Amino acid sequence: MNSYDVIVIGGGMMGTACCYFLTQEGLKVALVERGDIAGGTVSHTDGYIGASEKEPGVDSIQGAESMKLYDMMHKTFDYDFEYSTSMTDPNEPCGFVYFCESEFEMEMAQKQVTENQAIGIEQYMISQQEVKELEPNSATHILGGMWVPKDGAVAPYRVAFGFVYEAQKTGLLDVFTRTEVIAIKQNPATKAVEGVVTTKGDFMAPKVVNACGVWGPFIGAMVGLDVPIEPRWGQLTVTEKTGPITQNRLCMEYGYFLTKFFKDGQGERPISPLVKAFNVCLNITSDLTGNTVLGGCRLFKGYSIKNDYRVMQAVAQRGINFFPCIKNYNCIRAFAGVRPFCLDQLPIVSDVEEVPGFYMACGHEGDGITLGPITGKLISQYVTGKPLQFELAPELAWARFKDKDIDAIRRHEAANTTALLAIERQVMESAGKH
Ligand SMILES: Cc1cc2nc3c(=O)[nH]c(=O)nc-3n(C[C@H](O)[C@H](O)[C@H](O)COP(=O)(O)OP(=O)(O)OC[C@H]3O[C@@H](n4cnc5c(N)ncnc54)[C@H](O)[C@@H]3O)c2cc1C
Repeated sequence: MNSYDVIVIGGGMMGTACCYFLTQEGLKVALVERGDIAGGTVSHTDGYIGASEKEPGVDSIQGAESMKLYDMMHKTFDYDFEYSTSMTDPNEPCGFVYFCESEFEMEMAQKQVTENQAIGIEQYMISQQEVKELEPNSATHILGGMWVPKDGAVAPYRVAFGFVYEAQKTGLLDVFTRTEVIAIKQNPATKAVEGVVTTKGDFMAPKVVNACGVWGPFIGAMVGLDVPIEPRWGQLTVTEKTGPITQNRLCMEYGYFLTKFFKDGQGERPISPLVKAFNVCLNITSDLTGNTVLGGCRLFKGYSIKNDYRVMQAVAQRGINFFPCIKNYNCIRAFAGVRPFCLDQLPIVSDVEEVPGFYMACGHEGDGITLGPITGKLISQYVTGKPLQFELAPELAWARFKDKDIDAIRRHEAANTTALLAIERQVMESAGKH
């Protein structure tokens, strides 16, 4: 029988991060993954890391804490994970630029800058002229925006492999791929976890971490938890070689916050019905290979990761709106993935009082690449009983759902989706008439 101090289920960003930080505490860990390492959402994603694309407060603070850990990892890991920010390589594109198109967006951005600056995040308002200086190819109608010089990027799957590589150096990590967890063993009297049942036999440990992203609810259900995480689809479009259209690590329209946090309708972005129907906002970067990558989109439509050409069209519209020269280039491919969206829009990172020895590390939506390190660190602190990394960390805990009506949150969420689907139907009907 295989016995460990901790079993981590899921070899994505969260699972591998947990393995790294748990082994640094001297714990013997088994990583159990039903496919291959980094085969889940972590390989269907962009690799932007930062504190700025979050809600000010616990959300942006966890981002800032994770950025500190990324900096530490960059200095200490032998494994190269293509980390780039202005702090490490002045020759690389770096920093995030956000574009505002209306006075409403400028006001929202100003509020966000003020709140994030108050908690120590380096983020500034920029004028129309400064936008043009930072991004010479951008459109002239942009009113101004935000500039975040220290947000950056990594290669996500390389971070996951890096965590495993560094953890294995301790001799404390065993990795079991192609091994699916099908049940969790619990003490019948106390409900405390005792191990897992897998397609390749049983593994025993008094502590088990659920790091299964969009599949987290299935693992939660094995110990009787109703985990409010749903797949939120997104798609990225890659162009033929364009050279550096953008100069910074990432350019985003302020609409990112409106689509991510369901605020669209406020401020009325000047968008086509197609863009509205697919909840599209622009993020764009010309990468070091010379291609330009454009997103993004947020929809609820199950676990499928099939592409949708209509979203490519909508993203192209937003791309041309902010960088008119985009119209001269062809798209060569797209790829899609599903984000683990937690219905109250914060990840779940903690122990679970009602199931002793069970831990949750999932629900990071569009921020899991940024948040891998801080999540792994917090789980290691919960497991060892050491003080948590930052004082608002308990706001991420499973305990927050104790007095919440999860079904009511689900109904609210379903109403949003129904409204979007109605617009999508209208757009398709009117397209059919032309
Ligand atoms: C289009 C797109 C763009 C994005 N851009 C960014 C970005 O720029 N920056 C950012 O920070 N985030 C971004 N994200 C979000 C980020 O990719 C996710 O938050 C992150 O990958 C989630 O990692 P995870 O470890 O929770 O899940 P996953 O990577 O999906 O890992 C979960 C693992 O659990 C395994 N598993 C499931 N069930 C079982 C079982 N029963 N037994 C064993 N193993 C099991 C799966 O096989 C999988 O490998 C983006 C996401 C998308 C879709």
